[in-house]
Parts: sequence; structure tokens; C-alpha cells
Amino acid sequence: MFAIHPAKPMPPTPSDPSRGVSRFPFTEHSATDPQARPLRVAVLGSTGSIGTSTLDVIESSAGRFQAWLLAAHRSVESLVAQAKRLKPAWVVVVDEQAAAQLGPGSLPPGTRLAVGADALEVLVQDPAADRIVSAIVGAAGLRSTWAAVEAGKTVALANKETLVMAGPLVMRLAARTGATILPVDSEHSAIHQALCSGRPEEVQRIVLTASGGPFRTRAAESFADITPAEALRHPTWSMGPKITVDSATMMNKALELIEARWLFGVPADKLTVMVHPQSIVHSLVEFIDGSVIAQLSPPDMRLPIQYALTYPTRTTGPARRLDFSQTMTLEFEPPDASRFPAVRLGHEAAARGGTAGAVLNAANEEAVAGFLAERLRFTDIADACAKVLDEHPFEAEPTLEEIRRLDAWARLEVTKWSVA
Ligand code: NDP
Ligand code: MG
Repeated sequence: MFAIHPAKPMPPTPSDPSRGVSRFPFTEHSATDPQARPLRVAVLGSTGSIGTSTLDVIESSAGRFQAWLLAAHRSVESLVAQAKRLKPAWVVVVDEQAAAQLGPGSLPPGTRLAVGADALEVLVQDPAADRIVSAIVGAAGLRSTWAAVEAGKTVALANKETLVMAGPLVMRLAARTGATILPVDSEHSAIHQALCSGRPEEVQRIVLTASGGPFRTRAAESFADITPAEALRHPTWSMGPKITVDSATMMNKALELIEARWLFGVPADKLTVMVHPQSIVHSLVEFIDGSVIAQLSPPDMRLPIQYALTYPTRTTGPARRLDFSQTMTLEFEPPDASRFPAVRLGHEAAARGGTAGAVLNAANEEAVAGFLAERLRFTDIADACAKVLDEHPFEAEPTLEEIRRLDAWARLEVTKWSVA
């Protein structure tokens, strides 16, 4: 059973009698209703990679969207610069010490300051917030995303960790409150779009594409020597540091398998991964008749962000476009399991469900932090995750509290690994 039912394609518009030809699909039209007020968007993690791309989409939206709230952890300077430009109703600084740097008069008139994670939770539930962009990195994003879903909001979800940690609980909560969760992750956005081509029971397989990261062709024997600087150089995407390392280990694809499992309510054995170095085909859906529907665009997160904000309509926007006057090569290959053991962990956690996703995610976050701080080797990341996943006290139907407890346990286990 698929939990999300994307809108079916619109039937052709009736012929325009004045012209005697069908206007569908070639008539230029704007999905923007000139009478509509701007939709108020809360951007959680506005100073990050997804956050700044979201602001770009908002500023290019010709007034369709308005930044209502901007939130970050401690990047106060960027937050103030963003507030001056976009004049939101609220700025939230989660870290109290960082917030103390904000003197009176730092924010533009009409923009109020709130401090701390509790304040953020309250504000995302405010009736004034029309859309929530969940773009805080890591497990820290779960609280505010949960609050938004609890309030029945439309959530543009970049924070995949929310579904990796607590997918079944979050999707059940959304079903109860009427919240809509729309993917921002480019693969899941592509899948969401491709699923419009058939019915849930007609889906044979979902293929998530992966760039393969910077080490796709590097000799496996030298993986232990990979440095943080090397891992942070992604060939096709420009992203925050944590997800860039996740792409290098392909743990990002492991997390995305789990994200897809819960977001689309699809059994784990219908999910597969293909490496596609050009990052143009963002994912594919194979239907039972053998048709494969893909979504293509240059690697530019502004497109999936905009799709999640404008769905079920489409508008023009700032994202880069494919150039069909140039030769284009698209390659696909299965991932190399010996170089990228993380992918197997993703399949395993997606199939097991329960606490497996939360434990894998927490172990990975801690291991990536250890690698970036040069306490762990690149290859330790997947090894530590596999060990913690194997040894954790699995629970099939955990509560949010149990998930939080195991998250803390898994982090501690990885810390021990780094000092061993
Ligand atoms: P970045 O590291 O670039 O940005 C993270 C943002 O989260 C910053 O605004 C940061 O604030 C904020 N933040 C971090 N910790 C907290 C906290 N405890 N409370 C409040 N805010 C916090 O990350 P990305 O933009 O790359 O990624 C964001 C999310 O989107 C991740 O879950 C990632 O997996 C997902 N994603 C990202 C993609 C990308 O292209 N970047 C693609 C697909 C998914 P501050 O600046 O103050 O530290
Ligand atoms: Mg992705």
C-alpha cells in the first residue's frame, strides 16, 4: 500500500472554441492566482544549503511565497543578513548563547526574535504558517518537523532523518492530523512525480539513483586513507558537510532507501539503487507493464524545493535547465557493494523497520562527526554503523521515547569505537 497518492495528471482542457484547437498541453499559463495572498513559509535551517536555496525560490516567486519565519542554530550573522533581505515576521535562533550576540536593532522593524528549540516548536504550529520547509540537518530536525506534522501543516521535507528515525510514527501522525508531507530530497521528488503515471498497485519497482560520490572509481584498498577534504569534494552536488560525507560513503542512499520506504509506504524489496554519475535522472519508477518513468533535470535543489512548495501546480522558477542542443550522456551501473557497504545497511534497515533506522542514523551522525574531526577513518563509518546496528536491542514498534533513547545509546557506542 502506498501512503502517498500523488494527484493524477489533469485531463486535457476542453478545446478553446475561439481557436478550434486543444489548448492542452502547449498553452503557456501561470498557476499563480493573482488574487491569492502570498503563502507564508517557515524555513527551518534557513542558513544551510537547502535553506539558502529555498530563499532563492521564495525571492524568485514573484510574490507567490513570503518568508514568514527563518530559523537556524547559531549562524546569527547570516540569519540577520537574511532577515534584512526577506523581512520575515520571526527569526528563531535555537542556540541561546548565539542569540545573545543579537543586540537591539539587529533585526529589521517588524521582525521578532524567538530563542530556543521550544520556541521553534510553538511557532511552526502557528496558524499563520502555511508551509514548513524542514531543512535542519540531522536528528535535530525531528522535533520541529514532528510539531509541524502534529499541527496538520504542509511540510516540504528535506530532513530525511525524520523519516529514517521515526517513519511509521510520523506517517501515522500525518494521517491522523491531515498533514501533507512533500519530499524535497531530489530522488523522492522524482519518485513522487513519476508515481503520477500509474496506480500504487501498478508499481513494480522504485529505482533511486545515486551519483556514486567522489570515490566511485577510486581503488577500494585506499578507502581507509580518504581524508575529510577529499570526502567533502562532491562531483555534482553542492550540499552541507554532513550529507556530502554521506554521499561519499553512500550512506546517504541508505538513508534515502529508508526514507522512501516510509514516505511512499512501499515494501523494502521493491526499492533498488543504481549509480548514475551525471545526476540528471533523479530516480525512476518501473510499472508492471515494463514502462519506466523518470524525472530529469540538472542537479539543482531549487527545483525539488519549488515543486514541494507549489505542488500540485507547477510554476516557472530559478532552477537550471537541461540544454537539449548539446549531446547528453546518461550512464547507469549497480553500486559496488565492496566499496560502499553502507547501501546494504540501508536495505537491511528499510526491511527491518522498527528501531533499525534510528540506530543507523544516530551511529552514522556520530561516525561522520568523528571522521570530520579526524578521530575515525573513512572506512570506520560503515563498519561502526554495521556493528551498532547488529548489536542494538531491536524493537519492532518503538515509541518516540524509545527511539530517542536508542539514538543516544547508538551515539555513545560509536564514541567508544573512536577511542578504542
Ligand atoms: P547544512 O549543514 O547546509 O545546513 C543545516 C541547517 O540546519 C543550518 O541552517 C543550521 O543552522 C541548521 N541547524 C543545525 N543544527 C540545528 C539545530 N540543532 N537546531 C536548529 N537548526 C539547526 O545542511 P543541508 O542544507 O545540506 O541539509 C539539510 C537537510 O536537508 C539534511 O537533513 C539533509 O540530509 C537534507 N538534504 C540536503 C540536500 C542538499 O542538497 N543539501 C539534498 C537532500 C536532502 P546553522 O547555520 O546555525 O548551523
Ligand atoms: Mg537525495
